[in-house]
Amino acid sequence: MDNKPRVNDKDVLPKLDLEKGELNVPSGEDWVMISGEALRRVYEHEVTILGTGAFVIWYNAGKAVGKTEGAKFAGLVNTLGIDQLAQELSRTYAQLGWGRIEIRDIDIMRNEITIILRNSPMVRGVSDKEPRCWYVRGFMEGIVSVILGVEATAFELACEAVNRDRCEFKVSWKLPTSPPDETKSLSLGK
Ligand SMILES: [Zn+2]
Repeated sequence: MDNKPRVNDKDVLPKLDLEKGELNVPSGEDWVMISGEALRRVYEHEVTILGTGAFVIWYNAGKAVGKTEGAKFAGLVNTLGIDQLAQELSRTYAQLGWGRIEIRDIDIMRNEITIILRNSPMVRGVSDKEPRCWYVRGFMEGIVSVILGVEATAFELACEAVNRDRCEFKVSWKLPTSPPDETKSLSLGK
């Protein structure tokens, strides 16, 4: 296999339709550019008003969007392998402003992935006592679940808002009890 990226920028980065005043990606979703400040302010105000209920909103939204994203890339697992796909998706989301993503310890047989995220827009310039990246946590559950065809669970073990260094997520899942579907990556033995 050559080293050409298969997650093509033209397929994943939004493009401007000036006539409509819309940003779209080829899969049909509409996008909008929002400043990191706006994103953080929405989060802050929700937490102020709703308390911990805000976490659930961001987590659920992240998980739903992660599933939508996963559906775009699930078909690439078999051609690229999970390691290559993970690298390419890290690059894609960095281009979309979601920070530097490093995916470590992809061990399908141990059913676990560690994801390090630095400079996430959710925590830039923010200090907190507790991990706060509920949206990202949900997103990771959603995207990993769909790409691997499993029901993944994610935890944020460390947060840059707390430690000024990195957010660290552990994503794990149960192996299916029925024989794995051949189209899913669990049969790849990577
Ligand atoms: Zn965090």
